[in-house]
Amino acid sequence: MSAEFDVLIVGGGIAGASLAAQLVPENRVLILEAEDHCGYHSTGRSAAFYLESYGGPAVAPLTRASHDFLDSPPHDFAELGFLRRRGALHLARGEWPEVPEGVPAERVDRPAIERMVPGVRTEWDRAMFEPGCSDIDVARLHSTYLSAFGRAGGRIATRSRVIRAHRVSDGWSVRLADGQALTGKTLVNAAGAWADQLAEIAGVEPLGLQPKRRTMVQLRIGRSGLKDLPLVDDWRGSFYFKGEGDSSVWLSPHDEIDCAPCDSAPEEIDVAIAIDRFESVVDWPVERVERSWAGLRTFAPDRRPVYGFDSREPNFFWCAGQGGFGIQTAPAAAKLAALLLTGGQPDPTLGEIDPENYSPGRFG
Ligand SMILES: Cc1cc2nc3c(=O)[nH]c(=O)nc-3n(C[C@H](O)[C@H](O)[C@H](O)COP(=O)(O)OP(=O)(O)OC[C@H]3O[C@@H](n4cnc5c(N)ncnc54)[C@H](O)[C@@H]3O)c2cc1C
Repeated sequence: MSAEFDVLIVGGGIAGASLAAQLVPENRVLILEAEDHCGYHSTGRSAAFYLESYGGPAVAPLTRASHDFLDSPPHDFAELGFLRRRGALHLARGEWPEVPEGVPAERVDRPAIERMVPGVRTEWDRAMFEPGCSDIDVARLHSTYLSAFGRAGGRIATRSRVIRAHRVSDGWSVRLADGQALTGKTLVNAAGAWADQLAEIAGVEPLGLQPKRRTMVQLRIGRSGLKDLPLVDDWRGSFYFKGEGDSSVWLSPHDEIDCAPCDSAPEEIDVAIAIDRFESVVDWPVERVERSWAGLRTFAPDRRPVYGFDSREPNFFWCAGQGGFGIQTAPAAAKLAALLLTGGQPDPTLGEIDPENYSPGRFG
């Protein structure tokens, strides 16, 4: 009996959606998503920024190669770009922040810091400004990928949690929580925080992917003119915030708390830590917490994403470990993953990217 689908993608977040859109119409592809709608987990909870200096040297090529697509996508994909320029100010006390080589950035002294962030406390006396930092319209990017996928014949099944998967002669047979069974030649693991769990379900050796909780808080501030603030962070990584509305900011304590895959929620203590750190940076009156949320950022042991076929189990493809950079790298990562999966022609926009950096085989 031949498989119903060429590719079954487990997970309808940005990773699954962007890869899926690359694989159609040439392949029969089905996205299986456990929740009522795609994007309920990490993809729907991000801080939504593009920051080239973020994620280290192995991530930067994927971020850079995604820039043009995010900024001015092909017209048949979207009429408007997904980026809105904001700039990032990396703050420091008594030292100059380091920005990875090749990332455009300039030194900013105390008077200029005060002009950019009025009310910033005196000990924050040096900074680097990274002009390329932008907001990403994540919801539109994700939904545009899903629409492009649907228009090209792809299918999406929500409320479809995969609970078992086993090898059959022509690929994989998967069983869903509602009892349905489906077959596909290739099984793609784009299950985010559940990626190792999905591997176990399929009898594949897990890679040691670790979900880590990150907290976000939207604060009402007793001053105006905040919307176009740069993204302001401690270059040593204890907070970041950016303007959301005229009198509100999105703030994170930059936490990274190991946890099991789950529907993540913020802890009161982390919200309190975030506010405490914020008040040590600016003298702005915090009026109230408008909302708070948390999401999981899932990392491989070396904090590089994982794209490629499993080294032991043929037809099991990893698309996981996107940590805190899964949105800003999605366009290039999806093209790379699609090439690895189908063996297609190299894409010139992926020029400097070495797929070996992301191979699941690196874990032995
Ligand atoms: C607070 C926070 C801030 C962030 N900020 C940024 C940022 O500014 N810029 C950036 O680029 N990135 C950011 N990220 C990271 C980014 O959000 C993630 O890297 C990205 O969303 C991961 O996408 P994903 O598709 O792998 O995971 P998800 O969006 O979590 O999707 C995985 C999906 O798989 C489904 N699934 C799991 N198991 C099964 C199963 N057995 N059967 C069926 N479906 C299953 C889940 O329901 C889920 O919908 C941030 C993340 C967080 C949490």
